[in-house]
Amino acid sequence: MDYKAPRGTHDIFGTNALGLSLLEQKAKEIFRRHGFEEVRTPIFEDAALFTRSIGQTTDIVEKEMYVFEDRKGRKLALRPEGTASLARAFIEHRMDISSPAGKFFYCGEMFRYERPQAGRYRQFRQIGAELYGSSSPAADAEIITLAKDVLTSLGIDKINVHINSLGCDKCRPLFRKVLVKYFSSAKDLCQDCLRRLGKNPLRLLDCKVDSCKFTAVPETSDYLCSECKDNFNIVQFLLKKADCQYSVNGTLVRGLDYYNRTVFEIRSDAIGSQDAIAAGGRYDNLVKELGGQSTPAVGFALGAERVLLAAQSVGFLDSLKQSEKIFVAIAEQELFGEAFAFSAKMVKDGFNNDKNISVFGPINGKSLTSQLKFADKIQISKTIVFAKTEFENGKVLIKNMKDKTQTETEINKL
Ligand code: ATP
Ligand code: MG
Repeated sequence: MDYKAPRGTHDIFGTNALGLSLLEQKAKEIFRRHGFEEVRTPIFEDAALFTRSIGQTTDIVEKEMYVFEDRKGRKLALRPEGTASLARAFIEHRMDISSPAGKFFYCGEMFRYERPQAGRYRQFRQIGAELYGSSSPAADAEIITLAKDVLTSLGIDKINVHINSLGCDKCRPLFRKVLVKYFSSAKDLCQDCLRRLGKNPLRLLDCKVDSCKFTAVPETSDYLCSECKDNFNIVQFLLKKADCQYSVNGTLVRGLDYYNRTVFEIRSDAIGSQDAIAAGGRYDNLVKELGGQSTPAVGFALGAERVLLAAQSVGFLDSLKQSEKIFVAIAEQELFGEAFAFSAKMVKDGFNNDKNISVFGPINGKSLTSQLKFADKIQISKTIVFAKTEFENGKVLIKNMKDKTQTETEINKL
């Protein structure tokens, strides 16, 4: 065949599809307990929404967005992340005015034109939560522990929570100056970093190019104003209270410009170089920046594919039980209708009260041998055979497809 899934995308099936559903289900359960409600936003938005919120001099906006024009010449973009869309929806539905507080979550596809590698794709899935209307450090701590809870619910326990504070409009200008000074004397900066140095020096801390990795880089924590320092201390105090282990990483920044104060990243030791499985932080100016009433906010997103890679390493995917496959076959064509009715009943009621089953058949017009061959091909574990003599006595045959043994059972006992 000449067609393949586009580079950086992949089909999800089998255990991975089960794992993804279960991850979403577990996350939703935990979100609900924390009072978060689901929001589904469009997969594409006005491109300017992302440019404006994520920032002109970020990798996402400069290189990674899928931007296209529709037939009326509107400039649209496939969403590269969820926070901007949620903020847009929050403002569009006047929630910033009617109830300037809210807890929301989303699950869905994101698109970034990146160099594909293990854990880095062009279409990937994020599960995220956003808490609006609270500037309390308790909201930061809740979001961090929430992200961690979702991961531990899958048995992913070898994780490191890195936190930092990016300061506020008052203290960040000083830190930017310090960074510009520091990097101005650095050698071998990549082209992006050279270009961004004047405009957005924080970006240099997040550069993935090897020649841009420096030691003794200035750390934000040394330049925080007293309010930001206090705030960061309370976040840490609350994380300790919640038994959430973390380390302060003074050079941690995020790849998006809207963050202020607390930022965090959760990394896994188990999945190789793309080790960031969840990330987030506070973004108190975004809603106002997008034209809404000033509303503090904090949130996070986890990368579902990377989380599943980490889950695989702790055996989570192995433990997923596929439902037992049961086939209904007919020895004589005249039993087709009876077998069909039985099959439908079994779908509804289960087999021997077990509802973790999937039911196949019956198929008419084929010999019993070819029905059984087909059942083997699709890895059926039990076949229920409707045969005339047994059926007249209210019975069916149950064939164990693995050891080929066969028993007789009364139909109304199933
Ligand atoms: P990275 O530093 O790995 O590029 P990022 O800072 O761009 O990550 P965010 O924008 O904060 O990532 O997104 C949150 C999470 O989404 C990441 O921690 C990661 O798990 C996941 N993620 C981001 N980009 C991709 C991608 N291209 N493919 C798969 N997962 C991704
Ligand atoms: Mg990135």
